[in-house]
Amino acid sequence: MKANKIDGKALAAAVKAEAARQAAELKARGVTPCLAVVLVGEDPASQVYVRGKISDCAQCGIESRSIRLPETATQAELLDQVRALAADPAVHGILVQLPLPPRIDEKAVIEAIPPEKDVDGFSPVNVGRMQIGEPCYLPCTPAGCIRMIESTGTSIAGKRAVVIGRSNIVGKPAALLLLAKDATVTICHSRTQNLKEICASADILVAAVGKPGFVTADMVKPGAVVIDVGINRGADGKLRGDVDFDAAAEKAAWITPVPGGVGPMTRAMLMLNTVEAARRAARG
Ligand code: NDP
Repeated sequence: MKANKIDGKALAAAVKAEAARQAAELKARGVTPCLAVVLVGEDPASQVYVRGKISDCAQCGIESRSIRLPETATQAELLDQVRALAADPAVHGILVQLPLPPRIDEKAVIEAIPPEKDVDGFSPVNVGRMQIGEPCYLPCTPAGCIRMIESTGTSIAGKRAVVIGRSNIVGKPAALLLLAKDATVTICHSRTQNLKEICASADILVAAVGKPGFVTADMVKPGAVVIDVGINRGADGKLRGDVDFDAAAEKAAWITPVPGGVGPMTRAMLMLNTVEAARRAARG
């Protein structure tokens, strides 16, 4: 392996320490940051994610509330819950764990979270603010990707960045954040032609496809920074990224592992957003 590994766990620990410091400062001023996490149903992966977020809060000195609704909960019940949290001044951040059961309108639920408590950065107001470069909560995964790239000392400005994937939660915001850092950005998706050539021209390659080993060595420019967002669970139960790590690491200068890369950073960025929400609430 020639590439340097970007250690997501170590970077996440530093971000969480930063969040903990800020939380302690707020507490000293009488404000305890509080995150409410709402989970509908019993999806095992979602339960693991929620447990992780609650334990991150404890580590950072952030109060948490875990609200569980049964799989049978109606949209009205979920919306009532979200509105109650929205009205509660002790709650600074609200996160509704996705995906929701198919009969619930995800969009309506996300829109019920007031922008000032939308620490996931998914609400249309936050998305719009990010688009025009106004202060907002940045979505945790793409914001974590940017921190990981910057941690390598690579200057993003002027670089050719390619993002594979155009979802609202990863691909599109990752591309926007790279653009905001003055990269020249290309977004690839399932209809992209000459995908391999485009990827192979990237100084910074972000893979958010959801297909294990999708990015092969021939798609990596020598010396590139490769950020692997993918989380794919194989039949053996092991997690794999979207990048063929061993082969890509022979060509890249920097690469994120899976697990231990973007995942921990995503969780850490949520802590930072929650503390920021508390700070803004304290300012009034
Ligand atoms: P989506 O399924 O919403 O989006 C996948 C994207 O990949 C789509 O834009 C799709 O294109 C594109 N795509 C699919 N097949 C191809 C192909 N053959 N060639 C080019 N593009 C293709 O996934 P998400 O964005 O939600 O997540 C992506 C991955 O990141 C998943 O593995 C997910 O688990 C992981 N993830 C990890 C997080 C973390 O914290 N590390 C957080 C969130 C997600 P099209 O739009 O044309 O369909």
